[in-house]
Amino acid sequence: MDKKDPIHFVPNRKETTKMKKILIISAMADVELNYLIENLQEKQVIENKLCKFYTGKIYENEVILCDSKVGLINNAAATTLAIEKFNPDYIINQGCAGAISRDIHKSDIVIGTDCINITSINTKFKEEGKGYNLDDWELINFVAGEKDRLIPQNGSKELIEIVQKIENKYQYGKIHYGRIGSGDIWNSECDWLIKMNEKYGILCEEMEGIAIYTVANQYGIPAIDIRVISDNEILKEEYDRNVSIRAQEFTMNLLKEIKESNGEIILFIDE
Ligand code: SAH
Repeated sequence: MDKKDPIHFVPNRKETTKMKKILIISAMADVELNYLIENLQEKQVIENKLCKFYTGKIYENEVILCDSKVGLINNAAATTLAIEKFNPDYIINQGCAGAISRDIHKSDIVIGTDCINITSINTKFKEEGKGYNLDDWELINFVAGEKDRLIPQNGSKELIEIVQKIENKYQYGKIHYGRIGSGDIWNSECDWLIKMNEKYGILCEEMEGIAIYTVANQYGIPAIDIRVISDNEILKEEYDRNVSIRAQEFTMNLLKEIKESNGEIILFIDE
C-alpha cells in the first residue's frame, strides 16, 4: 500500500497487538521443555538460585519457559518467583505423569480440571506395636484454626475451554479431563494406585501440579496442568520419559490457539 494513498493513509497511525504473557513450567527440561526452547524466538536465558528461565516469543505470545526441577518444593518456589518477576496472564504446567486408571494409556493426555496433594495424609491413631494400615490413610489438607479437609485446587476453566478447541488435533491418544494427584512420591503399588483412583477419582500421578495450582490460585492467575502419560503401572506400560515431546507439541498448539483467540489487533488512530 502506498503510504500516501489518500484513502488508507492516516497520520500518526499506531498498531499494537494485545499479546498474552504465558508462563510454562516443567520439571524435566531435557525432555519436557527442549522442543519449546527450540521454538522460542528472541530467546534470553535468566538463571537464578531456584530455577532457570528462558524468555522470548512463540506464535507472537510473550513466553517464559521455567525449568523448575522435580517436586513440590521446587515448584512452589519457582512458580512464586516467576509470578513476582513476570506477572503472567496464564500459567501452563506441562510434562509427563503416570496413569492410575485402567482406561488411560501411555501417550494419552490428562488435563487437570483439579489437582489434589497425594502426600498430605492423616492417619488414624494406632498404639505402639499395632503396625500401620495404609487403608486407613486419608488424603487431607491441614488448615490452621479450621477443620482439616481435602481442598482440591482447580484448573482454569478459561484455559480448559481453549484446550477443548484444539483437542482434536492430538493424534497419539485420547484426551481425558479430570483430577490429577500430585506429591513427592512415585508409587508402584497397584492396589494403592487403584484405591487412589476409586476413592479420590485421580486419573494420574505426578510431582508438581499441586504446588503450581495452589500458588497460581492464590495469585488469581489462570493455570492448567497438561500431562502426557509416560507410564501405567497397573497395565504394565513401562515409563518412557521421551513421550513428553507430545505434551510440548500439544502446548505449541495451545499457544497458537491462545494467539488466535486473544491476539486481536487493536488499532489506535491519533488525529
Ligand atoms: N529420574 C527420573 C524420574 C524423575 S521423577 C527421570 O529423570 O526420568 C519423575 C518426573 O516425571 C516427575 O517430574 C513427575 O512429575 C513425572 N512422573 C512421570 N510418571 C510418574 C509417576 N508414575 N509417578 C510420579 N511422577 C511421575
